[in-house]
Amino acid sequence: MTITRFAPSPTGLLHVGNIRTALHNWLLARKAGGRFLLRIDDTDAERSEERFVEAIRDDLAWLGLEPDAAERQSERLVHYEAAFDRLKASGRVYPAYETAQELELKRKIRLGRGLPPIYDRGALELSDADRAAKEAEGIAPHWRFKLDHAEPIEWIDGIRGPQHFEAAQLSDPVVRRADGSWLYMLPSAIDDIEMGVTDVLRGEDHVSNTAVQIQMFTALGAQPPRFAHEALLVGAEGKLSKRLGSLGCDAFRERGIEPEAIVALLARLGTSLPVEPIADRAVLIETFDLAAFGRAPARFDEAELERLNAAIVHQLDYAEVADRLPTGMGEEAWLAIRPNLAHVGEAADWWQVVTGPVEVPELTEEDRAYVAEAAEALTWGEDPWHSLTGALKAATGRKGKALFQPLRLALTGRPSGPEMAALLPLIGEQEARARLVRAAG
Ligand code: GLU
Repeated sequence: MTITRFAPSPTGLLHVGNIRTALHNWLLARKAGGRFLLRIDDTDAERSEERFVEAIRDDLAWLGLEPDAAERQSERLVHYEAAFDRLKASGRVYPAYETAQELELKRKIRLGRGLPPIYDRGALELSDADRAAKEAEGIAPHWRFKLDHAEPIEWIDGIRGPQHFEAAQLSDPVVRRADGSWLYMLPSAIDDIEMGVTDVLRGEDHVSNTAVQIQMFTALGAQPPRFAHEALLVGAEGKLSKRLGSLGCDAFRERGIEPEAIVALLARLGTSLPVEPIADRAVLIETFDLAAFGRAPARFDEAELERLNAAIVHQLDYAEVADRLPTGMGEEAWLAIRPNLAHVGEAADWWQVVTGPVEVPELTEEDRAYVAEAAEALTWGEDPWHSLTGALKAATGRKGKALFQPLRLALTGRPSGPEMAALLPLIGEQEARARLVRAAG
């Protein structure tokens, strides 16, 4: 059974980058008939906030990416402690006492000598007596995971293909701080093992973490999951964009962007599949394929999102939007107005045109006479707009814009808008005649 997880740290709101990661993990699990887990990475008590945990849950619900189960790292500390004890017993974690300043100095010296700035394993040189002396001075150790330099690190990345790292070229990562708190790396591997995660799909900024975590899985006696790292998201101009880091569901909701538009865009951005206004999740699930992901950064273009949004709105059924429409606006009106909308919220504006009052247009004398004639000619049947324009065409010889435009202006107060054939029945006979008469002056 495929199990994926989305593991945000609740130190801020979701943004397009992590919405995309969540979506891809959801799609991967749904396609395989598996499970999608939400794991709140809240081991950093200082920076994690409850309001962000709630916002993450709400945003996922709004996006229709509800997890099958949710976990919180802050509730799993005993599991980390137990795994840590095992690693301690097998010599795969070791205490280190350097201060941040000492580490920075070592780093600079190595760089100065043209060496990669990795940790020199100084702490492994300490004798029992050295350690006892440090502790006697009141210096509590932080803990590093000891990479196995003899074991080359390899995996077949679901997106990047074969990957190879030399453990000796990586720093032994700090996994636990001197105050006992956990850094991200080890708890994540422990959770992935204990939650049965089969597929870790995340951004390529995690590639070197994966190298380290693969050894953690092995050190804990587990088979590593499959890994895939997607290229990062950049702005439309092709650069890493600060704006993307703060663009989240609140901003989308405020702008009237439908979750389906975001999902349709992010599902396919950066893949060889075309970005299309697909409102049917089943289609996105069916066509989701890691093999279609490219290695180049995916460009997120807000103008493209707007275009997709309009195309999605044009497909939305009345039932999906009814609770967001003005009272009284029924299905017929929605279907008439829908093709004209970029955002659902604009429906209210067109509904106002239907119910009136509308602006009285300034017409030429000739057009005033024409709409007066239209008021006389108006009859009410199956298709009042076509009967009216048909009759007026025959009577006046007008055609094209001259035939339609004064009528549209008189009936709606606007030069453009939804199909008049669909709008006129909604306006109703009496009101339509009154508007024509008023415009005739
Ligand atoms: N909390 C980590 C992050 O947000 C999770 C990374 C992962 O998917 O393992 O970067």
